[in-house]
This record gives sequence, structure tokens and C-alpha cells, in this order.
Amino acid sequence: MDLDAAGAARRMMARLDEFAAFTDVPGQLTRIYLTPSYRAACEQFARWAEGAGMSARIDAVGNVRARYEGKSEYAPALMIGSHIDTVRDAGRYDGNLGALAALAVVEQLHHAGVRLDHAIEVVAFGDEEGVRFSTAMTGSRALAGVLSASAMESRDRDGVTLGAALKAFGGDVERAYTSRARDVAAFVELHIEQGPVLEAKDLALGVVGAINGATRMLVTVTGLAGHAGCVPMDLRRDAVAAAAEMILAVEARGLKEPDLVATVGRLEVEPGAVNVIPGLARFSLDVRSPRDEWRRRAVSDIHAACTAVAARRHVDSVFLPVHEAPAYVCDAGVVAGFDRALVSLGLPAFHLPSGAGHDTMVMGGLAPSGMLFVRCKGGISHNPAESITREDGEIALRALTRFALDFRA
Ligand SMILES: [Zn+2]
Repeated sequence: MDLDAAGAARRMMARLDEFAAFTDVPGQLTRIYLTPSYRAACEQFARWAEGAGMSARIDAVGNVRARYEGKSEYAPALMIGSHIDTVRDAGRYDGNLGALAALAVVEQLHHAGVRLDHAIEVVAFGDEEGVRFSTAMTGSRALAGVLSASAMESRDRDGVTLGAALKAFGGDVERAYTSRARDVAAFVELHIEQGPVLEAKDLALGVVGAINGATRMLVTVTGLAGHAGCVPMDLRRDAVAAAAEMILAVEARGLKEPDLVATVGRLEVEPGAVNVIPGLARFSLDVRSPRDEWRRRAVSDIHAACTAVAARRHVDSVFLPVHEAPAYVCDAGVVAGFDRALVSLGLPAFHLPSGAGHDTMVMGGLAPSGMLFVRCKGGISHNPAESITREDGEIALRALTRFALDFRA
């Protein structure tokens, strides 16, 4: 079978540039779910898919779904895709690369007149980023059959509900949360890494072993406010000094274990005056790990360390859980398939976890799922400076294509 991967990769990279013109805000790439520019992008994607030999449609929730039949009709499908909504002032590769790479896989088969034993369904998801409503991954949730009716009541900053926006878009609210995809044999997603690991290892590609689960908490430390000039050091109950020691304990615990990350990203001080000993400090805690039990153990260690600091410094500390998402361990068969694809291209089968959430973790509830990461410059994403090289784009497409060819439903 003679596939023109180089030609398909060239067109894919050109389409990524062209696709970046579909924006709500001229001069930048901001393509928010269900806006007119999002609609135009869906229509363009569907046209490209039709041109690549697929039948394409925009579904009830605003995903583009395109199907390339296998040798026999109604064969189970390998679903490949990613999202085409973006954050505000985004880069052009986050999401879009995976959607357009999926299209380029099929384009090669179509040009060569090749049909596989399985169908390939290309999907371009909407609302992965969750910029507009207090929802995220709405498109993949709908396909996985886990979108709740109550999500439709979620409002954007203008007070428009998701349901109303979907209706105006031409979607179907009722079918949005009753449209679980059928006959999906597996789901795979190509995505930029959004981190610096592959670049540091001098590798173009990495196989995602797991998408990290996350625990977020709000920690409140209460001491006693007092006059900065009058209260001697040994009689103070300084909430910020205690919080500082706790934050260093968070960092130390994060450093102790590979693949575990622990971050304090926000710190508030009260009363927040230069001449007052802080009576209260509040900080966020974000802990992520590829395994739920490792994450829970880390959170419990951090809790114990902070409680010890609080006791020694005579302050109170309260931990309030605000968010918990389980890890998704990528399907072993999918991971092995990506390993073989990389090895066949002469690349090492390097594994890494994903620190960010992706549609794949939702699709994992529907079918065996997995991800392939491609190196991005400086690990930068959610930023117009986001970039990948043409060479990495081509090697990523070759790996994804190899996976699709060797896949057995
Ligand atoms: Zn993304």
C-alpha cells in the first residue's frame, strides 16, 4: 500500500495555518464553542472531510463527525480526533492538530483507494476548553453518554444558557445528552504535549500512559493579627509565616515522587497591610498524579505536614476540598499499539503522563482510549507562541497512521 504521508503532512500543516483564521477576535485565535466563527470552522472541517472521502455532519452538540467506511459497511469504528474550540488568544495546534491529523490519516487512505477492516470515524470536538460555560468537554461527554441534562442550564457571562446557545447554533438539546456513540472500538487522540518533557528528552513523540487525576483544595490558616512593631517575634501567631512553611512542605512532597506534581498557585493574606502581622492566609493546593492512590497518599501526607506546622506555630489550618477528578489510565492495548507504531518508525516508545485533562479521559468511559503527544516548542501552549516543527508534524502523522492501519477492532 502506497500512502503519501509527506504530502498529507504538508497539507495538514497548511490547513492548520488556514484554520487559525476562524476566530471570534480578528488578529488572534479565539474560537469559542458555539460562536459564529466556531460554526464556520465546523463547516470548513466538514468540507475538508468530504474532500477526503468521508461523509461528514455536525452533530446535536456541535461536534463534527465524519466517517470513512471500512471494507464492509457498519464495521466497528476506530474513532480518532481532538477538539477545535480554543482558549482566548490561543495557539493554533492545541486540539486542532489532533483533529486535522485524524482527517489526514483518512485522506491518505482515500487517495490510495484503501479500505480497512474497520471504519474510521474522525471527530472534531466542541467545548473541550470550557471557556464559555461552567462546563468542559461537552462534546466528548455527549458522545460518551455522560452529559447531564442539567449542564444545559449552565450560563455564559452574558447569561445565555448552554441549551439556548446550542439551539441558536442549530444543535439539538434533547439529543445532545442522549446521543451516546455506538460501535466505537477504540478512541485515540494526537495532541501537543503542552509541557517541556519531550523537548528536554530530544524526542518528537511520547505515548501517554495516563491522564493525571487532580485534587484541588483551599487551605485557610488562621493566626492572630497584631501590630508589626509591638508584638515580639516569639509571641506571634503569624498566619503567613506558617503558610510559607506549609507551602514549602507541599513543594517537598511534590519533589519526592516522579510524575507527582503539587502546586500552590494562589495566596491571599489578610489584612494585607505592611505594618500588621497577618492574621489569616488562604492558599490553593493542586495535586496531580497518574495514579489515584498515589495522589490520595500525597494529599494525606501534605495534610499531615501542614497540620504539624500549624500545631507547632499555634495557628489553625482548615482544608476544604473544591475539586476532585480521577486519573484515566490509558488502555493497555492502545498504548501497546502506539508503542509498536513508534518502534516501527525507529523511535523509542517513551511514556509520559498527561498533566492536563483531555477529551480522551472522557472517551475512556465509552471505549478503550489513548493518546499520543507531540513535542511543542518550549512546552508553551494556550499562547499564540505555541508551535511544532513541520518534521514533528509529519512524524506524528506517520505514527497515527501506522496505529490506524495496524488497529484490530
Ligand atoms: Zn487541547
